[in-house]
Amino acid sequence: MDLSYILNHLGEDREAYFNSVSPPVFESSNFAFDSVAEMRKHLKDEMDYPFYTRGHNPTVAILRKKLAALEEMEECLVFGSGSAAVAAAVLSSVQQGDHIVSVKNPYSWTGKLMSRYLGRFGVTVTYVEGTDPLDFSTAMQPNTRLFYLESPNSFTFVLQDIVAITDIARSKGITTILDNSFSSPLLQTSGKLGVDIVVHSGTKYLNGHSDVIAGVLCTDRKRAEHIFETEFMNIGAILSPHNAWLMLRGLRTLPIRLKQSAETTAYILSQLETHPRVEKIWYPHHPSHPQYELAQKQMKGSGGQFSISLRVEGPEEIDKFCDQLQYFLLACSWGGYESLVFPVAGLSGTANYKESPHPWNLIRFYVGLEEPEVLWKDLKQALDNI
Ligand SMILES: *Cc1c(COP(=O)(O)O)cnc(C)c1O
Repeated sequence: MDLSYILNHLGEDREAYFNSVSPPVFESSNFAFDSVAEMRKHLKDEMDYPFYTRGHNPTVAILRKKLAALEEMEECLVFGSGSAAVAAAVLSSVQQGDHIVSVKNPYSWTGKLMSRYLGRFGVTVTYVEGTDPLDFSTAMQPNTRLFYLESPNSFTFVLQDIVAITDIARSKGITTILDNSFSSPLLQTSGKLGVDIVVHSGTKYLNGHSDVIAGVLCTDRKRAEHIFETEFMNIGAILSPHNAWLMLRGLRTLPIRLKQSAETTAYILSQLETHPRVEKIWYPHHPSHPQYELAQKQMKGSGGQFSISLRVEGPEEIDKFCDQLQYFLLACSWGGYESLVFPVAGLSGTANYKESPHPWNLIRFYVGLEEPEVLWKDLKQALDNI
């Protein structure tokens, strides 16, 4: 299936709604039937047929079909946030007393789910560096049921060798989950890498306009049915039809947004490289990345997120640099049209700045759709004036 077919046609049933090019928002909580027989059919398979919008909604269904196809997975469920998708994936994979091996420093709320929440149910977690696939087998216990991956991970963009790790997991009957938000399905296709469940924060690249919080979970049919019947329907953290429609609209331009964001990032990195204030660049597709080869092998390309560590004496200079930026908004999240900056120093106070899990002088950037020269000029004036 080619990308244009998926983005423009797959899942759309235009004849059913007056051949409108853009699908309607089915803003309805429930659906009515002509006969009990018809009602019964829909109720028996709520994942596939409209009965009640918590389970299935025709606008949401178009989005689900497209996202599953993009990841080359059989099924997709969408959620009201990326965190809800992560929680559903993790909770569906463990039972009381089980053990998880997770990459260290995953997305903050993923870490909190595992460290703070799952303990209540007697689920334990071992965090590993993950740069060597053997880190996962070494940490394995008889009750290990899940390997949790985030490649590249947040802030430092450390990679895991996904194929090697999923091979180990499969041979031991262990489930694998990959948070693929950084790459989107276009830059790293999970269906090809052997993971059982892939999750995304749809808030980021997939929606791409900084106006929707959404989560995505893709997997095989059997697992999707299981998750649908448990975490999905019980917790009910669904994406509204309206937000699904906005996400469909955002998705149409995903390839061109990714392309622009990556090209501008390459330009900016080529400039940053030569600036005396830049101590180190953190970006999977930069030749200085220690896993550059692996990035080339398992990813189809890189996006617009990178970090730099600044050559400065203390956190005050980090604050000064960030405060001087005009075009890069000081904000969390990423993946929209607007460029962003987020210093690790923003996570801690200036007094205890060395306590962060990441280097204190690390600053994360996201490159949006502005002109490359405008962004570089902005960075340069802030660097020159620290
Ligand atoms: C933002 C993010 C999440 C959480 O998604 P929300 O949509 O904010 O709930 C999970 N993983 C990664 C890598 C993220 O960047």
